Amino acid sequence: MRRGRGRRRRFPLPRGPRPRLPRGARPRAHRALQRAHRLMESGDYANAAEIFEMLAQGARDRGLLRQAPRLYLQAGKASLLSGQRDRGAEMLRLGLSLLAEAQRWSQLHQASTRVVGELEQWGETELAEEIRQWLHTQLPEDETAYQQRAAQAPRRPSLPLHCPSCGGPVRPDEVEWLDATTAECPYCGSGIRGT
Ligand SMILES: [Zn+2]
Repeated sequence: MRRGRGRRRRFPLPRGPRPRLPRGARPRAHRALQRAHRLMESGDYANAAEIFEMLAQGARDRGLLRQAPRLYLQAGKASLLSGQRDRGAEMLRLGLSLLAEAQRWSQLHQASTRVVGELEQWGETELAEEIRQWLHTQLPEDETAYQQRAAQAPRRPSLPLHCPSCGGPVRPDEVEWLDATTAECPYCGSGIRGT
């Protein structure tokens, strides 16, 4: 059964002032990204959240729509882990909404499944349920179709745990592959060679 068409609803966009990157700050943005990943690893979630959110907004403003969703998702995770629940929920909704807007359905399915699992682990069951139901209204096909497709995906070479360029965590089932051996870093867009 096809579900969802005509029943789609959008998450509200965040209100209030948005942090911005200075103009022409690409190398600076890359350094900021490296720093945000390091802060996340060391458990400084509040500072990581601020940088990820600024980078996500910058990526979105520059039309980097492949990177913006992951940066928002990471901003959401960092915010939640630092105790900023409302902000975290908003960032997660925004990241997932961008994947839905881009109609990247299998990416949306994989990312949402992981986010829901993490939220349940942290006891955020209400938000987990909200996202699960929202996902249901977004996906044009039944969820089992995406599960089957993921299970039938071709064997790929193994990837490093972290992107060599920005240091971001690499999840083999969530990356996009540029060719048979190279995946794209979802945070900085650089190619990651598998072995
Ligand atoms: Zn990277």
